[in-house]
Order: sequence, then structure tokens, then C-alpha cells
Amino acid sequence: ATDHTGLVIIGTGMAGVGLARALRRLNDRRAITLISADSGDDYSKPLLSTGLAKRLLPDQLAQRSAAMLADELDARVMRHTHVEQLTPATRTIRLSDGQLLGYDTLVLATGAAPQAPFAIPESLSRRFFTVNDLDDYRRFRAALDERPARVAIIGAGLVGCEFANDLHAGGHQVTLVAPESAPLARLLPEPLGAALGSAFQDAGIQLALGRKLVDISAGSDNAVRLTLDDHAILEVDLVLLATGLAPRTALADAAGLDISRYGVTVDRYLRSSNPHIYALGDVACVTGVNAMYVQPLQASAKALAATLAGTPTQVSFGAWPIIVKTPLLPVVAYPPAASVERWRIEGEGGDMTALGEDKQGNLVGFALTGGCVRRKVELSRAAPVLLG
Ligand code: FAD
Repeated sequence: ATDHTGLVIIGTGMAGVGLARALRRLNDRRAITLISADSGDDYSKPLLSTGLAKRLLPDQLAQRSAAMLADELDARVMRHTHVEQLTPATRTIRLSDGQLLGYDTLVLATGAAPQAPFAIPESLSRRFFTVNDLDDYRRFRAALDERPARVAIIGAGLVGCEFANDLHAGGHQVTLVAPESAPLARLLPEPLGAALGSAFQDAGIQLALGRKLVDISAGSDNAVRLTLDDHAILEVDLVLLATGLAPRTALADAAGLDISRYGVTVDRYLRSSNPHIYALGDVACVTGVNAMYVQPLQASAKALAATLAGTPTQVSFGAWPIIVKTPLLPVVAYPPAASVERWRIEGEGGDMTALGEDKQGNLVGFALTGGCVRRKVELSRAAPVLLG
């Protein structure tokens, strides 16, 4: 027989830790076990893409070790422990060391995993990196060495653009490669993305946009050679893949919970299709919305803590502007709450405002660059919220 140990949270990212903190803030004293496949250090993931400009070493990004976290939360924290299997019928999970652990309530806060859209030759794999947690970041920083490195970043979304800016600020030679014709294509209308691209180029970042990678091979002098679909060849020391994240739903899927490619399906109470299992953060799809950002996960942690502590509380995401950390040209994007009929774009050079309007001309989302980011507060008040 397995003891049932109160609340078990899988994941010590901002979602899992945020939930445990929110519960303790409500003076909820139940037994909590947090389990992490990684080092379990408490760190703020958004800082990973600002470490070089701020001259911070990876260890300075860890706010607390797993042991300090356990102490602060009066919780058991199991690090370097992978949860292999979930069996809702017996309310147990099986850990990588074979141990079975019972739960009364289980929370999936397993985040999202980087996707590699192409095969990487085994002999070159140690030059390819994804940075999605502090352990990855430690490896990446160690590989960057002291010398200025030539780095290709594949993918020009938020993570790719932020690392492009940060690696550039750290003195490295950066080339940004992506199939879209402008950076941040999913967050910004084209003219604003192009403004960010110009700011990058003016600073000396090379752009290879509208380009796909077609071949990877060994180059001269220990370099990696990347061939693009226009036959251009890049010789680089390291490649950073920023090609998107997919919610880690495998555990829930194998256990028979409802999932989709957008995450573990949960309601506004963050409850999955099993009444004893909840999900929040990057892994959760809340009534059709998977918001892989900090503000929605903080709102989720607060609401779920209240629910678990006895006051059923639906999550609302509230106003939710995304601040892209590209000091070469500051960017704010506010994801449209409804489909955009047309973008009204004003401004020139790097200072631009784009207002997304629905059929009736109502503001449903916006994007700002340069000096116009000042309008963030005023426009956030005027725009409707997702999951209000
Ligand atoms: P994660 O932090 O991914 O945590 C998942 C946890 O689950 C980990 O502890 C992992 O080890 C564990 N785990 C997974 N599977 C298992 C298993 N089977 N067994 C045991 N443990 C498991 N958002 C913003 O709002 N603003 C920003 O400026 C911003 N900047 C970002 C910059 C970068 C470089 C990145 C990558 C993301 C950024 N984001 C930003 C997004 C934001 O950081 C994420 O939405 C958030 O950190 C996700 O937290 P999480 O706890 O859901 O997942």
C-alpha cells in the first residue's frame, strides 16, 4: 500500500512554486511535495534571456536552491526526479527511481518542452542548444566560453529575439534565421516586426529572415556549417534553437486525461477531466486558451490556491501586455482577445503603434515599439481581456 501524501505538485517552475507559495500565503498547512526533473532551483525563467547584458552568471539567476525552497515552503522538494507514470485509479505516480507515491490532490505544472523541427547530426549535437531552464542555461553559458562566439539563432519569436539582443549585448556575433519575413510574426503586425529587424541590423545582428535551414554539416576549424534555402552558408560556433515550445502533456495523455495539442484541458477552476488532478502554467489549456506567459500563470496559481484551500475560484487572466525584452528596440504586444479585422498602424521609424480592431472598430489588441511603449498602461485599460 502507498501512503497518500496530501498535495503533490509536478514541476518547480514558476507555476508549481507559485502555487505552493500562494497556498502557504493563505495559511494552508497541508503536506506538499514538489517534484522536479531538473535541479529544482527557484529561478525566474524570463531572466534567462537577459543574463549576458546584465552580466549575471547562471548561479546568480538562482534565487533559492531546492533545499532553501523546501525550507521556505515547509514542503518536500524532490529534485532530479522524473515522474514516469500517473495512475488516476489508484491515485499514484511512479518516479524515475521506481518509487510509487500516492496523492490526495495532484497538480501538473510540467511546463512546455522545446521543439526541434529538424534532425541534428549526432556528431554535432553538442553545438546545438535549447534554453528552457536554468540547467540548459548553465550548459549554454559554459559553451559560449570567454571568446566572442559566432552564434546562429534559429527562430525569431520572443525567445529567439530576446536571446539575439542579449547575446549581441554580451559581445557575440549573432545571426537570426527564421522562415518568417519579420521578427515576432505571431506577436506583431509586419511593419512593427520590420522595425525591430532594422534595429537589430543597425546594431550589427545579421538577419536571415524568410529563410529555412536545409542542411547541417561540419564546417572548417571546428565550426558548424548551416546551409539555408537560398544556398547561403553560415559557419558558426554554436546554434541556439528557439523554434517553439509544446506543452508536456505525455503524462496526462497516457493516464487518459483530456488533452489537446494546446495542453492539458482544464476548466476555469484549473481542474482536469479527473476531479483530483489540476493543471496550470505552460502545460495547461484553460477553456481553450494556452497562455505561455508569467501573468496568466500567476493568476492561475492564486485562483487554484484559493480553490484548494476551500473557496472555489475561477481564474481570470486580466489585462496582459507582453513586454519583449529587446532593449535595442523596446516592444510591447497585447494579444488580441478576438480576431482582428484590421490593424491601424501609426508612427514612423522605430516608434510605432498598431491598434487591432474587430469588425465594429473596437480595440481588441495592440502592439507598440520604441517610444510608443509608453502607451502600454492606457491601451491595456481600453483593451478587452482574455478570460475576463
Ligand atoms: P516550467 O518553468 O517549464 O517548469 C516545468 C517544471 O516541470 C520543471 O521543474 C520541470 O523539471 C518539471 N517537469 C516536467 N515534466 C516532468 C516530469 N515528468 N517529472 C518531473 N518533473 C517534470 N513570459 C513572460 O510573461 N514574460 C517574459 O518576459 C518571458 N520571458 C521568457 C524568456 C525565456 C527565455 C523563456 C524560455 C520563456 C519566457 N517567458 C516569459 C515564458 C515564461 O517564462 C513561462 O511561461 C513560465 O516560466 C512557465 O512556467 P511553468 O512553471 O509552467 O513551466
